[in-house]
Amino acid sequence: MALREIRTIGDEALRKKCKPVREVDDRVRMLLQDIEDTLRSDENGAGLAAPQIGILRRLIVVNTPDGSYLKLVNPEIVASEGEHEVVEGCLSVPGRWGKLMRPVKVTVKALDENGKEVTIEAENDYAKLYCHEIDHLDGILFIDKVTEFIEDDEDWDEDDEDDEDDVDEDPDETGPENE
Ligand SMILES: [Zn+2]
Repeated sequence: MALREIRTIGDEALRKKCKPVREVDDRVRMLLQDIEDTLRSDENGAGLAAPQIGILRRLIVVNTPDGSYLKLVNPEIVASEGEHEVVEGCLSVPGRWGKLMRPVKVTVKALDENGKEVTIEAENDYAKLYCHEIDHLDGILFIDKVTEFIEDDEDWDEDDEDDEDDVDEDPDETGPENE
């Protein structure tokens, strides 16, 4: 078991395009285990990609709906369906959350830790998770796609409908403050 330091924004490893893994060997399995161990050590972690621990290879580990950890090699989104607004954060971007658009459903192809091809269908939070982790492999962070950063927890469930700038025709009228 090896815990690695999670790289945070500013670290150039987070901005590199990772290389595909050519052979799933013991070294790759060891790296996947390190990613899993590091992910497990953070109670808020849903997924972790290799560049987040400074390894520029296409490897991710995600926490699955049944609570287990899935280790994937060369994951690729081969199909996606729908689009909706989600809220994301990232272990490499501590303390920041934002709204962005992600597919509702994705199909992911990858190799498992034994080099066997697997296909995964994921929806909603899990679709978001695969998109987020696979973006990491191309040096993309969620903050690149954010349409609006969230400063406080209280804004999380707020409806967006009133976000357009209102032109107030009546200078005497002051609208209610957001609560
Ligand atoms: Zn992340």
